[in-house]
Amino acid sequence: MASHIVGYPRMGPKRELKFALESFWDGKSSAEDLQKVATDLRCSIWKQMAAAGIKYIPSNTFSFYDQVLDATAMLGAVPERYNYSGGEIGFDIYFSMARGNASVPAMEMTKWFDTNYHFIVPELGPHTKFSYSSHKAVSEYKEAKALGIETVPVLIGPVTYLLLSKPARGVEKSFSPLSLLGSILPVYKEVIAELKEAGASWIQFDEPTLVKDLESYQIEAFTKAYSELESSLSGLDVLIETYFADVPAETYKTITALKSVSGFGFDLVRGTKTIDLIKTAGFPAGKYLFAGVVDGRNIWANDLASSLTTLQALEATVGKDKLVVSTSCSLMHTAVDLVNETKLDSEIKSWLAFAAQKVVEVNALAKALAGQKDEAIFSANAVAQSSRKSSPRVTNEEVQKAAAALKGSDHRRATNVSARLDAQQKKLNLPILPTTTIGSFPQTMDLRRVRREYKAKKISEEEYVKAITEEISKVVKLQEELDIDVLVHGEPERNDMVEYFGEQLSGFAFTVNGWVQSYGSRCVKPPIIYGDVSRPKAMTVFWSKLAQSMTARPMKGMLTGPVTILNWSFVRNDQPRFETCYQIALAIKKEVEDLEAAGIQVIQIDEAALREGLPLRKSEEAFYLEWAVHSFRITNCGVQDTTQIHTHMCYSNFNDIIHSIIDMDADVITIENSRSDEKLLSVFREGVKYGAGIGPGVYDIHSPRIPSTEEIADRINKMLAVLETNILWVNPDCGLKTRKYAEVKPALTSMVAAAKLLRTQL
Ligand code: GLN
Ligand code: ZN
Repeated sequence: MASHIVGYPRMGPKRELKFALESFWDGKSSAEDLQKVATDLRCSIWKQMAAAGIKYIPSNTFSFYDQVLDATAMLGAVPERYNYSGGEIGFDIYFSMARGNASVPAMEMTKWFDTNYHFIVPELGPHTKFSYSSHKAVSEYKEAKALGIETVPVLIGPVTYLLLSKPARGVEKSFSPLSLLGSILPVYKEVIAELKEAGASWIQFDEPTLVKDLESYQIEAFTKAYSELESSLSGLDVLIETYFADVPAETYKTITALKSVSGFGFDLVRGTKTIDLIKTAGFPAGKYLFAGVVDGRNIWANDLASSLTTLQALEATVGKDKLVVSTSCSLMHTAVDLVNETKLDSEIKSWLAFAAQKVVEVNALAKALAGQKDEAIFSANAVAQSSRKSSPRVTNEEVQKAAAALKGSDHRRATNVSARLDAQQKKLNLPILPTTTIGSFPQTMDLRRVRREYKAKKISEEEYVKAITEEISKVVKLQEELDIDVLVHGEPERNDMVEYFGEQLSGFAFTVNGWVQSYGSRCVKPPIIYGDVSRPKAMTVFWSKLAQSMTARPMKGMLTGPVTILNWSFVRNDQPRFETCYQIALAIKKEVEDLEAAGIQVIQIDEAALREGLPLRKSEEAFYLEWAVHSFRITNCGVQDTTQIHTHMCYSNFNDIIHSIIDMDADVITIENSRSDEKLLSVFREGVKYGAGIGPGVYDIHSPRIPSTEEIADRINKMLAVLETNILWVNPDCGLKTRKYAEVKPALTSMVAAAKLLRTQL
């Protein structure tokens, strides 16, 4: 009876680690306090898995910040600027790399594959020295062992580590970190030897890059690495764990031929082709298949009966004692424990499984495979599955029909963008280099308190409306004083750009503690989309209309786009993602049309998360982009030419999807541009004739630094060198929500002054 968990959330059921970290960073508690919280969390997780009956329990999946940074610490690959002088890496260096310190900035962070988790990108160069500098994997293994729990230590595999690395500062961009394979393997060997000595019998290498479209030299690196580790690994069982997609056929052939490996973990939830591959290409005799049938990235209860059928079929291929039931990936990408959801109604709750419940599911499947099926668990599960299928709360036929009708059709505004911009300009009468902001203004403690008290019914609706109205009026006045051209209401009524809409749409449910780590101590609480989405009533019109009534200048209506709502939610798994997206698009479309009818002339539809939904495999990109961009266009294809549609995206690395961005057919797009990437702008200009307005952020809002007028003017000038004057907008690179007024006022003053200065020179 073999069950395995790829990895487990480290934050704790009530974000205990977050609070311990933040208190430590603030100097309010000691390193020992932090260690104590961490130890307790690890121990309770191991005990919980042991009690559930899990055979292969992971260790070293805990982290104080990030597992890739842990690997960097293990390898001693500390960038020079942190002045690391050898020895075991402690909190000081570790957190400096993660968060920066008074004198040096942090290392860069980027998204972990197609998840919303961010890892710290290793910075390597030809001269990086590697030495075994963090014994965390071994000490966690021993810590569990001392509790009487045998675990499988988990390491980021050497090839994935290098493929995720980037050239260090000052090192040529063309430098390939993969060339360092021979230099990092000796450290891996030391770690392996120590784990062996401590008594480990299995070791898990996470090699998720195996699911990407790799070049042949990259695939060969896996063969090289695991052949070179072969003698160190002898006597150990080795698991190579992959996740987030299926492993391409070529890669599959290569890795399943590795002699030093005894087991392979595959994601059978996202990797829909893997089962066929195992059947057709075969599975090496005598090796273990870790079958990831329990979804680590969503919150739905597993359909146990159907998983059991899948597992039984696999058993026929790989052999009875060689099949291990597992999760599709680490459970860190799902919420922690359903037990703490006191506000979800029992029907919806019965459809869900968070990490703690998934551990039980994995074990129930393993027991059933071994002929010890727990009928109670299986029948309760069957009841929940059928209640979910037949619940009237899930289905709204009208919505289904409307969404189905969209598929395969095209939705575009009738007039082309240049003609639209002309029509809009006649009405809006904006100066050249018009100034605007992205939407939110600083969210003060007072504001958060007002929202909290209103939610808790401690203040009346009237009091709430009064407080928010005052805030909007303050923000409007400030923008008029600053002489900004297109105003925003500041979003004081929203605590989150997805939750705010989810709460007003049907088909969404919310958790109290369904947190998922995003980076470091930061967690997000994605809404759950459980049913067909519809919009019972207008969501933003009241506030936008109110804000517009306070000024003669154009006030932007502010919406979150369908793709972003989809990508930042736990999405239903009983229909394709695009169908859910189309439903959301139809709901947002109604909002757009209501805003227009209420006299709002400029409407911004944010698609902050469009790019992150891009599939990991090239072959799947086109399909995703097609329906994602289509969904966006659906929201605004019906507006008049004179209504100006903006969109905003918080990233600038979209050179590869530029055609899709243009195909969104917005009138104005504002984007992050903090690295002043002129290449990006030339893509807009030269790659394609993009007639629409474009506002590459003129200053970085992620930093408290206040830019000067000259500096901003200089940036705008650089943009003008590649973009037409009449399409350039001047704006910060994202919302101002996390900044203070003391920073925002002078920064926007500089921004407007720079725009005005340049207008006189053009
Ligand atoms: N309109 C949102 C804001 O200004 C956009 C935030 C985002 O792009 N992440 O906060
Ligand atoms: Zn943004």
